[in-house]
Amino acid sequence: MRIILLGPPGAGKGTQAALISERHGVPAISTGDIFRANIKNGTELGRKVQDILAGGGYVPDEVTNAIVRDRLLQDDAVNGFLLDGYPRTTGQVEALDEMLADQGTSLDAVLELTADTDEVVARLLKRAQDQGRADDTEDVIRRRLAVYHEETAPLAAVYGERGLLRRVDGMGPVEEVTARVEQALGRGAEPLDPR
Ligand code: ADP
Repeated sequence: MRIILLGPPGAGKGTQAALISERHGVPAISTGDIFRANIKNGTELGRKVQDILAGGGYVPDEVTNAIVRDRLLQDDAVNGFLLDGYPRTTGQVEALDEMLADQGTSLDAVLELTADTDEVVARLLKRAQDQGRADDTEDVIRRRLAVYHEETAPLAAVYGERGLLRRVDGMGPVEEVTARVEQALGRGAEPLDPR
């Protein structure tokens, strides 16, 4: 199973990604997590992207694409993956298309998790208290949402035209959202391809 999770910051992509990963036995690959791990470990990549993440902008496509290309070549991703937070720009969509074409594979579905702006802001502010993420301040949250609407929301239409898009309401308790996700994955993606 090869799927993408789309949705604004705070829609619950990370939470659902972990659950889907466990249920379907595919690695959940989060570009945000990869960047944060590099920042924490003080790598060259981490130093390069630190200020970008802190400001809520996007890391340049060539940097992000190279990271995903390497990650998808690792053994655990060869038979399937879930991408959380990638692609986020049309340039990244094109790069991913090339990576998949090189591997002779293709996407099974694109799940778009939706949530009200008020709700996502509230969730992110709560996460700021619980986890202290550097980019969860109110100003940066606004910026991340604006960048999402400008750069990433249009990708839903791109995948919609390809017949891959499944929209899932991300509001409500986690278990209810998970049930909707499973239903969305089941419709058309079932029986799940065990490749
Ligand atoms: P969020 O919940 O804000 O979407 P993520 O962990 O997915 O959190 O991403 C955090 C930050 O990492 C983004 O605001 C951006 O700076 C950077 N980032 C993550 N994925 C990408 C990507 N595909 N392209 C560019 N920048 C990215």
